[in-house]
Amino acid sequence: MKIIVTGGAGFLGSHLCDKLIEKGNRVICLDNLLTGNMDNIAHLQNSPNFEFAQVDTSEGLPQDLDFDQIYHLASPASPNQNNPRSYIALPFDTMQVNTFGTWSLCEEALVRGAKFLFASTSEIYGNPLEHPQKESYNGNVSPTGPRSVYDEAKRFGETITAAFVRYNNLDARIARIFNTYGPRMAQDGRVVIEFITAALANKPFPVFGDGKQTRSFCYVSDLVDGLIAVMEKGAKGEVYNLGNPQEFTILELAETVKKLVNSTSEITSVERLPTDDPARRCPDIQKAKEMLNWEPKVNLEEGLKKLLVYLQTIPKS
Ligand code: NAD
Ligand code: UDP
Repeated sequence: MKIIVTGGAGFLGSHLCDKLIEKGNRVICLDNLLTGNMDNIAHLQNSPNFEFAQVDTSEGLPQDLDFDQIYHLASPASPNQNNPRSYIALPFDTMQVNTFGTWSLCEEALVRGAKFLFASTSEIYGNPLEHPQKESYNGNVSPTGPRSVYDEAKRFGETITAAFVRYNNLDARIARIFNTYGPRMAQDGRVVIEFITAALANKPFPVFGDGKQTRSFCYVSDLVDGLIAVMEKGAKGEVYNLGNPQEFTILELAETVKKLVNSTSEITSVERLPTDDPARRCPDIQKAKEMLNWEPKVNLEEGLKKLLVYLQTIPKS
């Protein structure tokens, strides 16, 4: 199979490229390196089954590409307002790639008779009033708040994908990804990498608000298996939550990281909770379990240990 991965030089995209190649596919990785990094795919450059092109997928695809599937992962993904790689710092790029980009990739997939997967997010549930979140929940999202450039762009990306299925019979599906962590995460301000970095340096944990907000953290290998299951086994037009349903407060995450790193860092609130930061988030993954036979295998401590080993062994540039 010839498979396009947009955002393939990013954190999730690079692991997806690895797994697709391992399964015997040919991968075309398209990335404009806005938040991604060539280091993430350096090990693939000599593979005969890997091709990279520096392309802005908001503007569609390079001409004359032949392919059977598109995984559309390209998009900034961090909400951290203090970080230049966040979608808050890159609002127009974020809106463009998830809307214009999704639209033109759906058109290209349709012309080629290819399958399409849109990488959506738990953020489409906003600050959820239903808990845990099922795919049938429509969310509680501010259309104008600071996170709206991402949340609403992803929501419209889902609308575009659903419309291509409904009106043009495109063979597409949507994965709603919940917080994922692991090797190759960028220093883009997301909580797991911020806490581990602080713990390793014995600096205070940068907790926002009272730390009682919750998240559910999925290890990257589980998530990649989930994406492939959505593409291969998911039904046309369906939406699937992908994430680990174990829920932790941010303070519990800090305590776990502190213990694993054996750090002397203080766990302390450094600033108030950012506007529209969801109070609780946890996926209901019953649908993926039943329809895809998928569920995460790696628990938080195991996953954090793997990430720590990676961080302690990568060469410092
Ligand atoms: P990432 O920033 O590491 O990867 C995104 C990649 O997309 C980067 O390599 C970036 O350079 C590329 N990109 C951005 N705009 C582009 C454009 N216009 N053209 C081509 N490439 C472009 O982030 P990630 O965590 O790997 O996220 C990947 C996808 O998964 C995103 O769509 C994100 O919204 C979604 N997602 C991730 C998480 C998570 O926890 N990691 C959670 C929910 C959703
Ligand atoms: N957070 C924090 N300190 C940080 C980064 C994040 O306390 O340095 C909190 C953030 O306010 C949120 C949670 O951790 O409640 C998860 O944040 P992240 O940026 O990883 O992603 P989100 O789930 O909000 O999209």
